[in-house]
Formats: sequence, structure tokens, C-alpha cells
Amino acid sequence: MKSVFIYTRKFLNFGLPRGYPWSARRTEATYQLCSRLNLLDHPWISIYEPKPTPDRQLYAFHTKEYIRLLKEANQGIPKQEWMQYGLGTSECPVYKGVYDYHRLATGGTLLGADLINDEKADIVFNATGGFHHAGKDFASGFCYINDIVLAITRLLKSYDRVLYIDIDAHHGDQVQEAFYDSNRVMTLSFHESGNTLFPFKTGFEKEMGKGKGKGYCINVPMPAGTGDDQFLWAFQEVFQPLIEAFDPEVVVAVLGADALATDTFSNLRFTNIAYSSAVQMICDHSSKLLVLGGGGYSLKHAAETWTLAWAVMNNLGCNEEDMATFGGEFWGDGVCSLQGRPLFIQDKVKKHAFTEIKRTVVWIKKNIFPIIMGS
Ligand SMILES: [Zn+2]
Repeated sequence: MKSVFIYTRKFLNFGLPRGYPWSARRTEATYQLCSRLNLLDHPWISIYEPKPTPDRQLYAFHTKEYIRLLKEANQGIPKQEWMQYGLGTSECPVYKGVYDYHRLATGGTLLGADLINDEKADIVFNATGGFHHAGKDFASGFCYINDIVLAITRLLKSYDRVLYIDIDAHHGDQVQEAFYDSNRVMTLSFHESGNTLFPFKTGFEKEMGKGKGKGYCINVPMPAGTGDDQFLWAFQEVFQPLIEAFDPEVVVAVLGADALATDTFSNLRFTNIAYSSAVQMICDHSSKLLVLGGGGYSLKHAAETWTLAWAVMNNLGCNEEDMATFGGEFWGDGVCSLQGRPLFIQDKVKKHAFTEIKRTVVWIKKNIFPIIMGS
């Protein structure tokens, strides 16, 4: 196995606007925690530094006009007319270096795709990646450049089938949109329902692809309050049979840590146990894997979640003594772990979540499984 961690200190050079929830420190915080826990110094692991993606490579998904505006926005002076492209809003502000930051982030994801295409890596992790809301000519929800669509497009040059699995709290709307009519890319998103969370209008189970892509788009919306158990039940019921039937050559996973109960950007109630268990299942079924951070607005908890995920991807345990020294959570019985405690969720909330999720899973099994299993 060859495993790559994408890292550069250059993300720290960007001064994102004060109070902006997206942290430029996410890669750094995860890298530091991984190094302290001795999760990087192994013969099969390499660290690669990303380079900014050149403009012309962005045209594989984005329009030239949008990239031209984004480049102009790099000066940090917003223009009223850019609002129609989603630029200059509170979630996608214009700031000095905005273009450079996002093409460096994209560079990390595309480097990952290249390493997998060239068979130089089996697993690649880019914590500053996973901008699933960026459209071809607009910015949305903290996302300006859709590194995921660009990476999948590049992977399709070498591979026939790519599975996109997204467990960020928000629906991966623009990745779904980009491959809606394709049967070479299966998009599978688990997220808080659009009834209560951004992007609101998408991510419902009935969006199932069109044309050749019918059945290759799967959404599992979950009600507010959903916790580990209900999510993991759905994940097992849906992910496992689909990945076995679709048999992708590469898996692209977005591990947005904003479904954690400690994250205020969603109403889901996950602990990092849900993430590490899902990552384990993803790894069990993938020979080539590109993993991206996605959302995550409580930096400490997001970095812990991604560190745990990195440990799982590399079959590494976290030493308890290291945990105690470097910020692990002490439990009452003297155990220290990066893994969070199981969370208490009221019976009523649990029951409601389970009923809703079960209804969705039954619908998917009835309407989507026959298309995929029969093909
Ligand atoms: Zn999110």
C-alpha cells in the first residue's frame, strides 16, 4: 500500500476574513496531530506538497468567465455585479488571495487524482479539499472551485467507474449535478435533510439521476437530531450493497466533519465514532481512495476526526500514552482516546430519525437497487 498525505504550510499565509467559519488551519491542525501521534512516519506513507492549479485546468468544469472574475476577486475588492456569481456574499466573501487559496486547495486534490492515475498512490488525503457546493459558474456555501468534479473528471481518463461518497452534513449538490446523467460516476450522499439544512432544495431520495445516469445518484437525507447509530445503520444498508454491485475502480470520499454534535453548522449529532466506522467500511471496499476533508467548523474536533480517519485508512492504532500527552479526551475510567464518547440522544429523537431514515432506505432499495443490481 502507498499512502499520501497532502500538506503545505502555505495555507497559513492566507488571511481569511475575520470571523469567517472556514479555517485555513485545517490541514496544519490535522498534520500536527497526525505527526504527534506518529501517524505519518511509516515506510508506505509520503507527504506531497500541492501546487496552485493553473487557470486552464479549471476550465475542465468552470466557465472561463467565472474563473476570470474569481481571478479579479483575488485583489480583494468586491464588485456589486459579482453577486450574481455568488461572489461577495457572507458565505463566499471576496478577500485578498481568495483565488490563490482555492487553486492551491484544488491543486492538492488534483495532485491526489494524478498520483492515483499514475498508480503512485493507493490512498491520498487532502484535508483542504471537498468543495462540493461550487457550481460551474458560481460560488456557494464556502466553495469557490469544485475540486471534486475536477478530480473525478481527471480520474475518468484512467478509470471507468468512480464512486463518490459524501458524508458531510450538507448535500453534495454540485457534484451530483455535474454527473447526473453519467453511469460512470455513482454519487452517494448522506446528509441532513434539505428540509432543515443548506442547500435546502436538493438531496432528496427521489433525485436519482437521469438518462444513462438513472439510478447512479443516491441520496440519504437524515432528519435533524440523527446520531451515530441511525446513520451507521443506513450506511451499512445502502453503501455496502451499492459499492459491491457498482464495483468502482476508484472511490472519492468527502468526510465533512460538520455532522459532529460539536459542530454548530448542522443539526446532526454524530461523534467521530460514526466517521471512523464509515471510513473503515469505505476502506474495506476500496483499492484506490481519494479522501477530502469537506466542511468542519469546530477546528479541534474536525482535526481529531480526520486524524482518526487517517489512522483507519492506514491501519494504524493510536497509542494511548500519546493520546494522553497530546490532547486526547480522558474518559472516567482512565481510558484516553481521540475517539469521542457515545452521545446520549433522547428516545423520541432517535425513534423519529430511525423511522424517517428507514422509510428512505426502503425507498432506495425498491427504486434504485434493481437498476444497479440488475445492470
Ligand atoms: Zn458541510
